[in-house]
Amino acid sequence: MTGPRITLVQGDITRQCVDAVVNAANSSLLGGGGVDGAIHRRGGPAILAECRMLRASRYGRGLPTGQAVATTAGNLDARWVIHTVGPVHSRDEDRSDLLASCYRESLRVADDLGAKTVAFPAISTGVYRWPMDDAARIAVQAVRDTDTAVEEVRFVLFDERAYQAFATHLN
Ligand code: ADP
Repeated sequence: MTGPRITLVQGDITRQCVDAVVNAANSSLLGGGGVDGAIHRRGGPAILAECRMLRASRYGRGLPTGQAVATTAGNLDARWVIHTVGPVHSRDEDRSDLLASCYRESLRVADDLGAKTVAFPAISTGVYRWPMDDAARIAVQAVRDTDTAVEEVRFVLFDERAYQAFATHLN
């Protein structure tokens, strides 16, 4: 089986036209800054409403780090948002497998949904402080290692530095 085609774009993840947009969420699922804030702002209240229902049912204590769950994409040009919680970077503890798990589990949820095109941000590289180059290496490797029916994985990088980091590891 051949893996998904991996593409890179520099831009805003909320502007992508794909089946599923991945959100770098926090475990509360109730919104935050960065990608999370942008997705809820542009996607509108339907996303938060579904997140609240998830908190009231399956994820009463929040979504654990490394796991993923889908909601509607509201007004985004996508069918679903897949929320995943990246690990906070630590100098004392290797949390790489949790970061890889975010990509793996998001693709598993995408497969459950039947999503063929999935846009990812550089999970954990914002507020969670993961060094960009290392995060890019882990992200590309995790996608390559995952057995999935997704056809395109699009990494959407906010700035030139992030784009270059991903380009380096893709080639
Ligand atoms: P985390 O809490 O997982 O670190 P953040 O949302 O703070 O997540 O940041 C993740 C990465 O996404 C950072 O590199 C940040 O620059 C980038 N980013 C922020 N907003 C957007 C956006 N609208 N589209 C794409 N990437 C974004």
